[in-house]
Amino acid sequence: MNIYGQTLPQLKEYMVQLGEKPSKAVFLFKGLYQQKIQNFMDTPILKEALKIQLAQDFQMQLPILVEQTAGEDTAKFLFKLEDGSLIEAVLMKQKYGNSLCISSQVGCNMACAFCQSGRFKRVRNLTAAEMVAQVLAVEKLVEEKVNNVVLMGIGEPLDNYDEVTAFIDIVSHQQGLAIGMRHITLSTCGIVPRIYDYMEREAPGPLAISLHAPNNELRNQLMPINRRYPVEELMTAVKAYIAKTNKKVMLEYVMLDGINDKPEHAHQLAALIESSDCHVNLIPYNATQNLGFAPSSMENIKIFYDILRDKGIFVNLRREFGASVQAACGQLKANYLEKTNM
Ligand code: SF4
Repeated sequence: MNIYGQTLPQLKEYMVQLGEKPSKAVFLFKGLYQQKIQNFMDTPILKEALKIQLAQDFQMQLPILVEQTAGEDTAKFLFKLEDGSLIEAVLMKQKYGNSLCISSQVGCNMACAFCQSGRFKRVRNLTAAEMVAQVLAVEKLVEEKVNNVVLMGIGEPLDNYDEVTAFIDIVSHQQGLAIGMRHITLSTCGIVPRIYDYMEREAPGPLAISLHAPNNELRNQLMPINRRYPVEELMTAVKAYIAKTNKKVMLEYVMLDGINDKPEHAHQLAALIESSDCHVNLIPYNATQNLGFAPSSMENIKIFYDILRDKGIFVNLRREFGASVQAACGQLKANYLEKTNM
């Protein structure tokens, strides 16, 4: 079993079962995530016999790096997992630290029309260990700390709820990697019941919604999940999340030429938001994905932006991170599979 999937309470329980004090789990947890030990024999303070037992019961498994592409302030990593599955992680160097976008599933069943990952059906969920290991592997490769985690890579995090929340518990723990909850952003295409579950957790972090269309007709075409949880239901959940957590919610909106970028769409989006504390993140589309969509012109983006801003909505135009490193979700994997004829 991969040790990186164990939460601290689980490790305490393991220690108790061995007849040890639960505090031994804290030494181990700190060793794994603060001292970054590579071998159980290096765990500080623990007795020799316990270290040997740990080495028998667990492995420290990181994914294998298959390909790495680097741009000015972005690096993308294609990793191979134990079963041969390929996943991606993207590191973005920002003013406020290193943000790592990780994958939560192998493939994705949500089939969003504009997304490369939607081409690869979900093969399986990632385990919490495989998500934690992405963070550790990238920290090791770049020899820098990851300050922020964004669950926005391949997969729909709320379609893998238990493992994703275990991952969050592990990386956010103060005695582990100590990435604070306000630095862990969960992004969802809108699995409404799970948004309600997530808001009931203790101090959940920032939520981002992949909205991408302001009405059901258009969103049904772009994002099949909308047929199950239509825009009104999704926005009701978003407003409940804001009320419960007192946190802003980011609405992600990829700008697709002639599809969702007209002034009427901006007005509809503003009406959906009303006076709620939602921010809008406009994302230039990365056209290299070859899925039949083109990026909106800067002129249309500007008109869209101004309509929202004039209505008092906080709107941000996201830099096109990583066009040079094939940073669109699922793109590195797609290119690798093409190159290797897989
Ligand atoms: S945008 Fe997200 S939810 Fe939609 S297909 Fe891509 S990975 Fe899945």
